[in-house]
Amino acid sequence: MNSGILVIVSGFSGAGKGTLVKALMERYENYSLSISATTRSARPGEEDGREYFFKTEDEFKEMIQEGAFIEYARYVNHYYGTPKAYVQQQLAAGRDVILEIEIQGAQKVKQQMPEAVLFFVTPPGATELKNRLEKRGTEDADTIRSRLQRGCEEAKGMDQYEYLLVNDDLEKCVETLHGIVQAEHCKTARQQRFVRKMAEELQVFMKGE
Ligand code: 5GP
Repeated sequence: MNSGILVIVSGFSGAGKGTLVKALMERYENYSLSISATTRSARPGEEDGREYFFKTEDEFKEMIQEGAFIEYARYVNHYYGTPKAYVQQQLAAGRDVILEIEIQGAQKVKQQMPEAVLFFVTPPGATELKNRLEKRGTEDADTIRSRLQRGCEEAKGMDQYEYLLVNDDLEKCVETLHGIVQAEHCKTARQQRFVRKMAEELQVFMKGE
């Protein structure tokens, strides 16, 4: 069995990454979503172990010491990190694993695992982004400002992503994302076991003649 693909989804806060990933998971069954640990507090409706593992700063630092993360980063005053064990186990089982993480984390993962595929999700324009953040209504004005400020920095990093997804139509975005992951599966570099098997089998035929 080929190992799964590590799919990294980053994008501006308010770009609709969460909705996109949720829709993708509902439609296709071969994806596993990695649940991150964070020191930020739960928003209304969020549950420990479902959206995030909510940790105190001490607990988070202990996990860093134990080497429990593939990567971690600080984002607008809080820590966020990707637990290693789940990702490794799911990839080995042939499942495509989604990491919904910010840009510094994405770069750290790409350095360690160059075969990961990086997507950057953006709304069609900056006004749309601001509107979406305000409409979400889960953050106060200061936090929205910090997140837009962070967005300005993140915009500079968009070029480091392999694929840009402009999220103006959720349906299309889901299909595009899934289509690209399927195309990645077809890459010869990801099918080396098959390539070797075919070559070996042909040799056996030739010897038999
Ligand atoms: P939020 O607080 O809106 O849930 O997430 C804030 C940002 O942190 C988002 O850009 C999200 O993708 C990112 N994030 C979530 N989990 C992780 C993680 O494990 N590592 C990193 N580096 N970023 C994360």
